[in-house]
Amino acid sequence: MLVPAGAMPQDAWRIDNTPIAGPTEILCEVEALNIDSASFRQLRDSCGSDAERIGLRVAEIVEERGKQHNPVTGSGGMFVGKVREVGVDLCERVDLRAGDRIASLVSLTLTPLWIDAIESVDLVTGRIGIRGKAILFESGLWARIPEDIDEGVALAVLDVAGAPAQVRRLCSPGDTVVIVGADGKSGLLSCAQAQDRVGPQGRVIGIVPDAATRSSQLLRSEQLVDELVVADARNALEVAERVAALAPQLADLVVNCVNVPGTELASILCARDGGIVYFFSMCTSFTAAALGAEGAGRDVSMMIGNGYTKGHAEIALQTLRHHPALQDHFNVTYGTRIRA
Ligand code: NAP
Repeated sequence: MLVPAGAMPQDAWRIDNTPIAGPTEILCEVEALNIDSASFRQLRDSCGSDAERIGLRVAEIVEERGKQHNPVTGSGGMFVGKVREVGVDLCERVDLRAGDRIASLVSLTLTPLWIDAIESVDLVTGRIGIRGKAILFESGLWARIPEDIDEGVALAVLDVAGAPAQVRRLCSPGDTVVIVGADGKSGLLSCAQAQDRVGPQGRVIGIVPDAATRSSQLLRSEQLVDELVVADARNALEVAERVAALAPQLADLVVNCVNVPGTELASILCARDGGIVYFFSMCTSFTAAALGAEGAGRDVSMMIGNGYTKGHAEIALQTLRHHPALQDHFNVTYGTRIRA
């Protein structure tokens, strides 16, 4: 049952979250939710950074909507857990058995979710330990948890897998690439991927709010960026001037990886005429981007950050494997084993 009738699971206000697998569905026991960064930041701010209140709010949203679909940001996240049952019609068609550990690669905004209990809320990573169940539809994407990567790290990386995979596709040797929010999960992976792709003739410029963080230092020490600009991306003119001072021809590709609203114009102003702005951020406003580009007279192509790109999970995990210092950083920040 979908509300309103005729809606699809993603745009429905409420979906049926009865935890019983239909013939073409997969029932999973959920151990943790990885709330997407824009949503988690909104929940954290509105709950005064109180872990218990955040947990209660998530339980409330899921009870009301049948899915973890933040009504303010409109975004979700993904889950990790164990397959409990594969629907009878799917048994021969999918390579999954009861007991397999997987991460969902489709958004929680369209995943039927049932929560029995909230067990933990990690204010740093946005990871919420739960006891619950979820249904994956036949069309739903999933990935096996890799054996060589910590489960918490895999969850953090797979949540943002679309970003490095798209960067790989959009970058060419010699390009100038600007990554806004370079010090977050998607930003770091995108910088690494961009640096691999643009080669020695190209240039990667990261925009970060703070030079002192461990991730900003890593960007420099591992040369994941050629230049680091410390600026608030909501200040479009300052960002544009600082980037133009480093790269007067401006960027062939700008990738927006922030978790706050109001950074569309800075991203647009960093791109050259004919360049591409890839909005991975879930805080992106279509109107701010469209009208901002028009108002600034910028003839740029703008892309919505599709969470899915062919092979995105493997590309994202490989990005980590190719950069051991980056993997160390993810291990330290996100690498708590969810459950032994
Ligand atoms: P993250 O790890 O939290 O990184 C976000 C980064 O943006 C942080 O490093 C943050 O710095 C930085 N930032 C915040 N405010 C800034 C400002 N004013 N100026 C410059 N930088 C600023 O987030 P993530 O997991 O990489 O996700 C990034 C975005 O992608 C989020 O909006 C998330 O919701 C979205 N997302 C999209 C998809 C998709 O399918 N398109 C999938 C998953 C996630 P501080 O930490 O210092 O504040």
